[in-house]
Amino acid sequence: MLAPYALRPEETRGRRYPEARHPYRNDFQRDRDRVIHSRAFRRLENKTQVFTRRYSDHFRNRLTHTIEVAQISRTIAAELGLNDDLVETLALVHDIGHPPFGHSGEHALNAAMHEHGDSFDHNLHALRTVEQFEQRYADFPGLNLTFEVREGIIKHSCDYDPQVFPHLSEYLLDQRPPLEAQLIDFTDEIAYNTADLDDGLESRIITVRQVRTGLPVFALLYDEAEHRYPKAPDKLKFNETLKRLVDRLVSDLIDNTRKALAATYLDSVEAVRRHPNRVVAFSPEIEKERQQIKAFLYENVYFSAPLKADKKKAERLIAEVFAFFIKSPEKLPASYQEKMLHEPLHRVVCDYIAGMTDNYAQEQHRAFCSERKKAVSSPQ
Ligand code: MG
Repeated sequence: MLAPYALRPEETRGRRYPEARHPYRNDFQRDRDRVIHSRAFRRLENKTQVFTRRYSDHFRNRLTHTIEVAQISRTIAAELGLNDDLVETLALVHDIGHPPFGHSGEHALNAAMHEHGDSFDHNLHALRTVEQFEQRYADFPGLNLTFEVREGIIKHSCDYDPQVFPHLSEYLLDQRPPLEAQLIDFTDEIAYNTADLDDGLESRIITVRQVRTGLPVFALLYDEAEHRYPKAPDKLKFNETLKRLVDRLVSDLIDNTRKALAATYLDSVEAVRRHPNRVVAFSPEIEKERQQIKAFLYENVYFSAPLKADKKKAERLIAEVFAFFIKSPEKLPASYQEKMLHEPLHRVVCDYIAGMTDNYAQEQHRAFCSERKKAVSSPQ
């Protein structure tokens, strides 16, 4: 049962290359399946989410994070009467443009591009990935996804100024994205804020006591769990707290968005698009808690000493691989050398590195940038 403000598959603006309808899968279901079967999706398994070193086998990588975002998104979409096929597709594709080594990789690529007067943006890279880099079908380049999925890829988490990005003008940059895309920005953050507390504890970078002291909402929910399970081991009390935290964030997002939709009388996708603001939002109270969790994670996990060292290493690795290919473009794979006919070298190198997994980037670094290798291959 879709609400009036949900995007119906028959309302899609369609694909870049027209295709006949599938007998029993709608267009957004087909898009979801194309994303799942893409190479870029499979590579997410070997891309860092937060922890660049595997302290254990239980940490999220970018693929398991993506699956968690899809799960949370589907729950909320169903409850709000949104199109859960479109929501699931957007969740599964939302991180497909992320380079190796998480935000360090992104930071390093962006810095390298700045030296050439350019920049790296993972949402734009995701769009290029599904439009150009995936080569799977005989009829068209890329995955030939529907307009709404491509629009959601770039617009779910930020707005692009039409003056600065005239080449993106087809994506209605002066309008809000549909609710299905607006949702992803929030579910992404619910997933990683709670998962990073979990992985932070598992890695022993943070302690239960530290989280209870630093986060009033966590302390409140922990007391609840302790009261209910006084004899449970600490780890299970922590898990029960985290479970309550996910539920608190998800439930508030549903309630508050439902209220906002009722208050604004948005009764169609067009009304959502023309509305001056995005409508999906937490209540002010939970928004404050969200910001506290984020600030806590920045201070105690993302910028903690153990992760800082990993970060520096990853940034140096990306910078060195980038510099190597700029100096020796003949070492790029043949398909990327072909791209140099149409694109500046720094963009081709950036695309190549952004597509790499952590492992492959490390391999390339070992092959081309390590001192030992240089010494061995240097001329007599
Ligand atoms: Mg994400």
